[in-house]
Amino acid sequence: MTALHASARHSNTSDVTVGVLALQGDVREHLAALAAVGARAVPVRRPGELADVDGLVLPGGESTTMANLAQRFGLLGPLRDAVRAGLPTYGSCAGMILLADRVLDAPAGQQTIGGLDVTVRRNAFGRQVDSFESAVEVDGVAGGPVHAVFIRAPWVEQAAEGVEVIGRVVGGPADGKIVAVRQGSLVATSFHPELTGDTRVHALFVELVRAARARYRSSDGAIAGVGSGGGKS
Ligand code: GLN
Repeated sequence: MTALHASARHSNTSDVTVGVLALQGDVREHLAALAAVGARAVPVRRPGELADVDGLVLPGGESTTMANLAQRFGLLGPLRDAVRAGLPTYGSCAGMILLADRVLDAPAGQQTIGGLDVTVRRNAFGRQVDSFESAVEVDGVAGGPVHAVFIRAPWVEQAAEGVEVIGRVVGGPADGKIVAVRQGSLVATSFHPELTGDTRVHALFVELVRAARARYRSSDGAIAGVGSGGGKS
């Protein structure tokens, strides 16, 4: 057990609530990984549910489908508002695309939530190989490299100043490509830790959620600016 994993286990169980955007994709796997590291994990489908979470996971799946459904259900604006207001958010694979400010190789008009100052390329590894697995060292994750599963994954083509690159592919045709980033309380990985049983990336995120909760949640228990109403979509 790593230090991070241990600290997540030893803090009060369920002291933070982390939502998983549950429109499409591997929602169940993220809920299980979050619960395993001691968070209260809940699906988020409606704008009002955003007000009840301390952090949010955008799962893997299909970013265009998720964005279309989010728009149809009136969630896109509230999601943008929540991320902009500082809601800690972790995007894996399609979730990374949704968090990115700029997307290459996207169908015309693809919407994102944005907030993460990166340019990602969709299906970036596809030219070499559709899906593959590789060991990736992730800064902030102790205990050795993460076994990273890539499935029609994006990579980060360009990260602005202020975005920390916390993981790159080592070896193979995609050597050096950026596949994990962090900007404040936003985290994104090209790969799917929720599919491997290794909960260290989720533990890292839940620790960020705890730290942000201490900063943002005041005595009234609300995150400033995050509510059920409002956002344009
Ligand atoms: N290629 C998908 C997309 O663009 C992402 C794949 C995944 O999440 N495994 O949304």
